[in-house]
Amino acid sequence: MTERSVPRIVVVGGGFAGFECARHLVRGARKAGVDVSVTLVSADDYMLYTPLLPEVAGGLLDPRFVAVPLANSLPGVDLVTGRVDGVDLEARSLHLTSRSGETETLGWDRLVLTPGSVTRLFDIPGLADHARGLKTTTEALYLRDQLIGQLELAGRETDSEVIRQRRTVVVVGASYAGAELVSQMRALADEVARQRGFDPTEVRFVLLDTSAQVMPEVGDKLSGKVLDVLRRRGIDVRLETTLESVADDHVVLTDGTTVPTRTVVWVAGVTASPLIETLGLPTEGGRLKVRPDLTVPGRADVFAGGDAAAVPDLTADSGDVTPPTAQHAVRQGKALARNALASIGIGTAKAYRHRNLGLVVDLGPGFAVANPMGVYLSGLPAKAVARAYHLLALPRGVNRWAVGLAYLTDVVAPRSLVSFGLVSDDEARFSASQAIPTPSSNGP
Ligand SMILES: Cc1cc2nc3c(=O)[nH]c(=O)nc-3n(C[C@H](O)[C@H](O)[C@H](O)COP(=O)(O)OP(=O)(O)OC[C@H]3O[C@@H](n4cnc5c(N)ncnc54)[C@H](O)[C@@H]3O)c2cc1C
Repeated sequence: MTERSVPRIVVVGGGFAGFECARHLVRGARKAGVDVSVTLVSADDYMLYTPLLPEVAGGLLDPRFVAVPLANSLPGVDLVTGRVDGVDLEARSLHLTSRSGETETLGWDRLVLTPGSVTRLFDIPGLADHARGLKTTTEALYLRDQLIGQLELAGRETDSEVIRQRRTVVVVGASYAGAELVSQMRALADEVARQRGFDPTEVRFVLLDTSAQVMPEVGDKLSGKVLDVLRRRGIDVRLETTLESVADDHVVLTDGTTVPTRTVVWVAGVTASPLIETLGLPTEGGRLKVRPDLTVPGRADVFAGGDAAAVPDLTADSGDVTPPTAQHAVRQGKALARNALASIGIGTAKAYRHRNLGLVVDLGPGFAVANPMGVYLSGLPAKAVARAYHLLALPRGVNRWAVGLAYLTDVVAPRSLVSFGLVSDDEARFSASQAIPTPSSNGP
């Protein structure tokens, strides 16, 4: 411990894991009657409830509904909005830069790293320049505006090739995020067509994946149902197929076809936050290696969890790590708080262990799939479970209220077709929206 009289625990990243960790650090210290300083440094001043981002892109929810402000949700936590760009493990300090460019150095006695993940990009020509992702509110807003804007422009276009480009959306990645996104964008496009008076089948959606199945994570039976529903909605699902190259007005697929399009969304997996590789610590598949008690090997003062960490999955075959899901991140957040407090003499540490409880996947109007605790549900029962689950899991009453009202409004009124145009094409690039270093952001 340093000469500070009150031990300081600094958490990096206010997402699912960091938010839960900070909350439990304060509670645990208070319960033990011990003075502990808890600081949360996060690039954003809100915790983003990512499972509902597809519904923001689809125009069903507003971004503020899915953003839980850190300010009045974490009493007792010192909040710092800024991006950590370096950690000095020997000096026990970190360096951060605020949104407006000010820099600061913070000391810590215990460091908890939960900076999450960013979209995993591949070396596909044109991908970083022409595709956009779905990890941030910026990107979700951009996609909503882009779809509404392209459909409007197509309505006034005379060149049939340009009309086809504007009316085609290509989504790459058919796991739950991609399947939910394509379903929500389909629903938005259908509403645009209805309100603007054109045939919705003129808007084409293509969903690609290298895998032989959509959403393999929900099991064969539900995966088959999802495929049927997507195809019934007119979504052109192409499995074992991905992008060969991307240009501003078309993509070339690995099966040789060219698809005219101006909207390409890449949701084909994630990789740990770029902060992780700057640490010089051992990684596994890009994620920071941690032991079952979530400490970094050889550093009893540094902890990590969530998408950024390779946490051993004690419920699976040896060698497996927990998947990058909110379900694990939330529970790892609690375990991080417990074990970080134990390392300063409050309570006892425990290995992280959690058996997967299943998944809920909302696939737009009238359909969802869910496999809570091994029970396979689809259709309206799954829809009710999915919506109830999200309402309960959102960690703030006001957000629950806003999302609940939006769901009710959706039953009685059409989606509002509003595009504010607040996010420019450049702001939605991976380099700007997710701070991913890409070749185009670093110059030639
Ligand atoms: C569209 C979509 C849908 C999803 N749906 C589901 C679902 O239905 N169920 C499920 O279980 N999971 C779902 N997930 C996965 C889930 O969102 C992640 O597993 C979860 O967010 C991981 O939590 P985390 O705390 O590790 O990271 P995050 O929640 O990503 O939080 C990381 C935080 O760290 C901050 N940060 C990053 N770098 C820095 C830095 N250098 N300095 C300071 N702060 C930094 C970020 O701003 C962010 O606040 C979905 C993900 C997406 C993108």
